[in-house]
Amino acid sequence: GIDRFNKMEPKQVPSVLILPLPAQGHVSSMLKLAELLCLAGLHVTFLNTEQNHQRLVKFTDASSRFTKFPAFRFETLPDIPSDIQNPENLIKEMFAGIDRVIKPAFRELLISGREKAEEWPPVTCIIADGVMSFTIDVAKEFGIPNIAFRTISAACFWAYLCIPKLIQEDELPFKDGDLNKQITCVPGMESFLRRRDLPSFLQAKEFSDPSIQIVHTQSSKSMSSSAFILNSIEELENPMPSHIGTLACAKVYTIGPLSALLSSKKNTTSSTSLRAVDKSCLTWLDSQQLKSVLYVSFGSIAVVTAEQLLEFWYGIVNSGKPFLWVMRPDSIIGERQIPEELMLATKERGCMVDWSPQEEVLEHSSIGGFLTHSGWNSTLEAITAGAPMLCWPYFADQQINSRYVDAVWKIGLDMKDMCERSIIERMVRDLMEDRKDEFMKSSEKIANMVRSCVEEGGSSYRNFERLVEDISSMSL
Ligand code: UDP
Repeated sequence: GIDRFNKMEPKQVPSVLILPLPAQGHVSSMLKLAELLCLAGLHVTFLNTEQNHQRLVKFTDASSRFTKFPAFRFETLPDIPSDIQNPENLIKEMFAGIDRVIKPAFRELLISGREKAEEWPPVTCIIADGVMSFTIDVAKEFGIPNIAFRTISAACFWAYLCIPKLIQEDELPFKDGDLNKQITCVPGMESFLRRRDLPSFLQAKEFSDPSIQIVHTQSSKSMSSSAFILNSIEELENPMPSHIGTLACAKVYTIGPLSALLSSKKNTTSSTSLRAVDKSCLTWLDSQQLKSVLYVSFGSIAVVTAEQLLEFWYGIVNSGKPFLWVMRPDSIIGERQIPEELMLATKERGCMVDWSPQEEVLEHSSIGGFLTHSGWNSTLEAITAGAPMLCWPYFADQQINSRYVDAVWKIGLDMKDMCERSIIERMVRDLMEDRKDEFMKSSEKIANMVRSCVEEGGSSYRNFERLVEDISSMSL
């Protein structure tokens, strides 16, 4: 552990620079990796945008948690604009901001780091979010190895890497509106992948579509990375991690779920929330019956229209299940007018919060199902907790995640873009009543498998050890 590098000369000390995309899911998972690397005794610099850093300090115990590692430091980068109410703008603005603001600031930091080598050992390895592929060029310029960290599933990343093939085989862009058409040229997914299951950024009619362009550029650039870290589990996603390694001629470290790996090493959870967490819902959950509650959360970015909100609300209330619902104040587009009957039913058997301690919620014994937008972090958290899912994918990788939950792992149901109260009610009942035993059994089985992968000797545990060894050897 921590003492093993004490005897080294400063220059030989493995010193890692971690750069996440400024979004909740990305910051969360990469901060967990940072904590794991600290526990392994490495020097770690975590780079956050100013606002996200302030949020971490305000809403979590991150500063005191990390103060105990003398070889850890936070550094900040300038903020970039983000328009959360419009997903297409969100992506475009974010990537424009990365190029304009983050890239030059990142270079500056490496230059000034070299000059202040006596204060902090020079960076020997960059671990950058795979969508920040500009770091590959910067890393080359400075002669430092760059490892790409992907916050999405191996399956989704693999689908992105198959874009040239999808185009070549005429499966992309879509020639007509038939979303049920089978996709045949993503190896390993031929039997279950339909157009509607492709990541939303690929579901385009024109190749000039900005989303498909951004994903294509980022993925093909990241192919020149010599190594990838995946927040996933080999046993869950075989053979996708090895497909990725073979195509990109790269090392692949499948070390997820990072959250579970970290808590197995230190026996507590680590909060990485960028919003104020309302813990009162845990007390409410204590008063509910075993596996009876539907937990509803659409993550940090997804938004719903006022009409969709009503459909969900009626569907959930009519299912008769008690529910805990995370309703972010910035998640509803349009004027909401909530009928009295819904308010009454919510008072009777519901609990609503702006933001929950989600990992603790999912682990709570009262949870019987999870209505989710199928973000990869939420999916991993539900898998680890053994909570069956009802999936309403919003965008990005979520469409393919929800397909895996339903058709491959069989631990939930995929609603796709359907949003109608009677169907929502039916599906909640299917998940938590009619097919409850079936889903509970399959979820528990996968949860056990995943939990064993982060224990000593398990695949993620071993892959993480290999990562630490390889990073250490980079500095020699
Ligand atoms: N989350 C949370 N409280 C909430 C809702 C979400 O802590 O009320 C966390 C959740 O545990 C997950 C992250 O926010 O780690 C969301 O990441 P995900 O990849 O699921 O979705 P995204 O926000 O990127 O769409």
